[in-house]
Parts: sequence; C-alpha cells; structure tokens
Amino acid sequence: MEKIKVGVLGATGMVGQMYIKLLENHPWFQVNYVAASPRSAGKSYEEAVKGRWHMNTEIPSTVKDLIVGDANNVEEAKGKCTFVFSALEIDKQTIRELENKYAENDIPVVSNASAHRHTEDVPMLIPEINADHINIIPIQQKHHNWKKGFVTVKPNCSLQSYITPVYALQKAGYKVKRMIITTLQAVSGAGYPGVASIDLVDNIVPYIGGEEEKSEIEPQKIFGKIEDGKFINDLSIKISAHCNRVPVIDGHTACVSLEFGDKKPSKEDILKIWKEFKSIPQELDLPFAPKQPIIYREEDNRPQPRKDRDVDKGMAVTVGRLRPCNVFDYRFVGLSHNTVRGAAGGGILNAELLKEKGFFD
Ligand code: NAP
Repeated sequence: MEKIKVGVLGATGMVGQMYIKLLENHPWFQVNYVAASPRSAGKSYEEAVKGRWHMNTEIPSTVKDLIVGDANNVEEAKGKCTFVFSALEIDKQTIRELENKYAENDIPVVSNASAHRHTEDVPMLIPEINADHINIIPIQQKHHNWKKGFVTVKPNCSLQSYITPVYALQKAGYKVKRMIITTLQAVSGAGYPGVASIDLVDNIVPYIGGEEEKSEIEPQKIFGKIEDGKFINDLSIKISAHCNRVPVIDGHTACVSLEFGDKKPSKEDILKIWKEFKSIPQELDLPFAPKQPIIYREEDNRPQPRKDRDVDKGMAVTVGRLRPCNVFDYRFVGLSHNTVRGAAGGGILNAELLKEKGFFD
C-alpha cells in the first residue's frame, strides 16, 4: 500500500518533534512536509532543530533534509501532503484562521492546538470515547462549503490520565457526578524552552495558565453528543481541578476523587471494568491503539511517570491506588504520557480513525 503523505505544522516544537519521531516507520503515513515559524522557514529540518532536538532517537533520515516551510503560507503545503497535523503555538485567533485556511484549501487538519476545541462543529476526539463525533465533519464541511478539508482537534493533555478510566465506568452504567482532580504535570507540557529551570528545579509551581479551566470544561464536550448539527455538551459532571507543574520531564499524573450517582460500583466492579475496557480503536486494530487502553497496577507506589509513561507505545493510561474516599466514593491515581497519548500519539490515533473511516479518500 502506498503511504499517505502528511505534513506537520509546528514540526520544530516539542509536540512537532514527537510527531516526527512517532511517524518514522508508520505503516500508513509518511512525513513529506514540515512547517514552522518564519524563523525556521527555508532551513533544512536538521538545521532548524539544531541544538533543540529533544527526542531520544536520531532525526529520521527521511525528514532531516526536508526544507521547512512557513506554516502561515498554505500555498507551500499544497501538493505535498494529503492532510496536516497541527502542533502550532501561536495566539488562538491566528491558529483558528490558519487551520480554517488549510481546510478551505482541501487540506484536512488534525490539530493539537486548543484554538478550535470549542468551535461548535469541530469534534474534540479521543477515539476510545467519542469516535462517533467524526460524524459532525460532513456538517462542518457544509457550513464552510469545504470540499475535502475539515478540522478535528484533540483535548488538553492534562485530561488524558483520568478521562478514559472515568468514561469506562460511565459506559458500564456508573454515572460520575462530581470529581476533584489534582494534576502533577510534566515540563514537556509547556513546550520548549517552557518553564525556566530556576523556577522548577527543587520546586513545584501551583499554577498553569488556563489548564484548570480546560480540565473542567473540555470533558463536557468530549462526553457530549451531536444534535441538530452541533455538539450538545454533557453538563451533568462537575469537576474541580488543581493543576501543578512538577519537575518531571514527561508524563502527567492526576490524583482523582470521584462521586457516583445513585448506582455505585464495588472496587471489584471498577477493576473488572477497567481491565476489560476496549473500544473502537482496538476493534479497528488501529496501528497506534494501545492493546489495553487502561492498565491497573496493584503496587501501592504506582503509577510513576518514569516507570509507566511509555507502556504500550506511550498510548495506554496507567491507573493505581484505587481505594475508598472519605469525602466522595473512590480515589485513584492516573498517569499518561503527555506528548504521546496527550499530544502527538493522540493526534496520530485520531488520523488513523479518520483514515479508516474514509475521510482522506
Ligand atoms: P512549542 O514547543 O513552543 O512549539 C511551537 C511550534 O509552533 C514551533 O514549531 C514553532 O516554530 C511554531 N510557531 C511558533 N510561532 C509561530 C508562528 N508565528 N508561525 C508559525 N509557526 C509558529 O509548543 P508545543 O509544546 O510543541 O505545543 C504545540 C501545540 O500543541 C500548542 O498549541 C499546545 O497547546 C499543544 N499541546 C501541547 C502539548 C504538550 O504536551 N507539549 C500537549 C497537548 C497539546 P519555530 O520553531 O520556528 O519557532
């Protein structure tokens, strides 16, 4: 099978580099175009990331000589890629307009940026939870009179450590009413250069701008449904989030207390639901789908970022420490790799779902 040519916008950044790493040897997709800011445009990719390549593998030989385009100029991408992954870090309005422009020019956008997360006709995808939300795409195309182009987004990386475990319980009939979450978020989540080392070594920063709001509001759309051509958010779950930046390189941890509605599961019920949970990406056997999306660790001192973030290509969520809560019903700790499951890997899984459903044909 001939591979689909893809582009990466923001290819020189933290998430963009992870795309370049993860897409090396991808069975369906091949990076054929890279773009970033005008500062990098015109250089070879190798030159553009010189001194700031953060991956633990070498730059793929198929990418290092590609000439970096200016992501602001859609014309440069034309003819080089069937769709683009967007990992841009610019102001939201500019990203919204730019991503629309790619779609308008018949280049679908699989985005990591937050700019379009609350646009009424843009799906915010976690394929294990809401793969059916891609059904909004033809409606989005109709709204804009786009022919082949469209925009999809993925949610914030901080959610990823607990949203699938919570969804699995809800799907099994145990509705969650309220949650309190404390996140311990890795430095790679802030991009590069991110938080100054003097602020973070031997320290914790109890504030990440905008992150608590995203953790509290985005699940409403993720759990929502399509009605009359737009998303109706699920407002039935109340979330209170504390988001902290901690001196960990990769891997966001979340300590979660949750309260169920009238129907409450036993600890054994929860463990069984998590163990048996499988969804669309596993059924479709998508290349980036984790075999088991939720992995429970029995040890008292797990999950831990260093030991658990890379499990199953960095795409599984590891949970542990499930125990009764003195205020709500249960407590647990969740962990996921923020630049893989929470960013580039999640984007690739979204693209695989879209490809499998014929959206790039
Ligand atoms: P980053 O390391 O700061 O990289 C930003 C990228 O955007 C670089 O390629 C940069 O190009 C490009 N860029 C900056 N200004 C530009 C401009 N004016 N025009 C065109 N391109 C421009 O950021 P990141 O952490 O990779 O995050 C990228 C996106 O993913 C953000 O929207 C972020 O919110 C989202 N996200 C990040 C994570 C994470 O864990 N890091 C997780 C989920 C979502 P130059 O190198 O040329 O400056």
